[in-house]
Amino acid sequence: MIIATKKHLEDIKEMIKGYRKVLNVGCGGCTSVCLAGGQKEIEDLCTQLTISLKGDQVVFEIEGYTVERQCEPHFLEELDEIVKPYDALLSMGCGAGVQFLAERYPEKPVFPALDTVFIGVNKDIGWYEERCKSCGDCVLGMTGGICPNAMCAKGLLNGPCGGPQDDRCEVDSEVPCAWVKIYERLKAQGRLDNIMKIQPAREWQDQVQGTLVLEAYRDRYAKKD
Ligand code: SF4
Ligand code: SF4
Repeated sequence: MIIATKKHLEDIKEMIKGYRKVLNVGCGGCTSVCLAGGQKEIEDLCTQLTISLKGDQVVFEIEGYTVERQCEPHFLEELDEIVKPYDALLSMGCGAGVQFLAERYPEKPVFPALDTVFIGVNKDIGWYEERCKSCGDCVLGMTGGICPNAMCAKGLLNGPCGGPQDDRCEVDSEVPCAWVKIYERLKAQGRLDNIMKIQPAREWQDQVQGTLVLEAYRDRYAKKD
């Protein structure tokens, strides 16, 4: 899932300063699961901003509303009438959710209340770890299911570098070397020959905005942007 954390209250206040009526939009998807932007976090932020801004602004009103997911137009439809009386929107969705809101309501300023930090897993309650940088060319089949882009500090596709010490990463001795883990995983699976297969350098100059249309839907969207 996408992991996000709440911005500092002062930064959020600075963004919405001067707007009298603000709608704080939560997301019931990823940011709800990682305890950053669900219904409870919406209510907490509305309370904090109400207390904090009441003294600064003569009139300030904020209300919260959580949609199922901010990254799906189907779930945003219910907001179309609700947003009308508001001067600005806050979003507690991920960066994609913020942009989808801004695109749907271009006449309203939309501000992010969260920082989107990575695609990761839920290790335990309140403990998340990055696992994928959505590189678009997955090598997990070669690396024993361990992502070198996300877990090697240098993002090496052919590793390890010369630096691991006692299976720790030379950049941060608190974390294991991803390539030692890859070596051990492949060895345990009898697939160590994979580590000798050189991965070609990535082409980064053509990194345009990613779009994926499933084959079955290509005709349907052929004439749309
Ligand atoms: S190689 Fe890593 S960053 Fe790329 S898609 Fe696979 S898991 Fe994600
Ligand atoms: S020590 Fe391992 S994880 Fe750290 S940068 Fe080198 S190869 Fe990557």
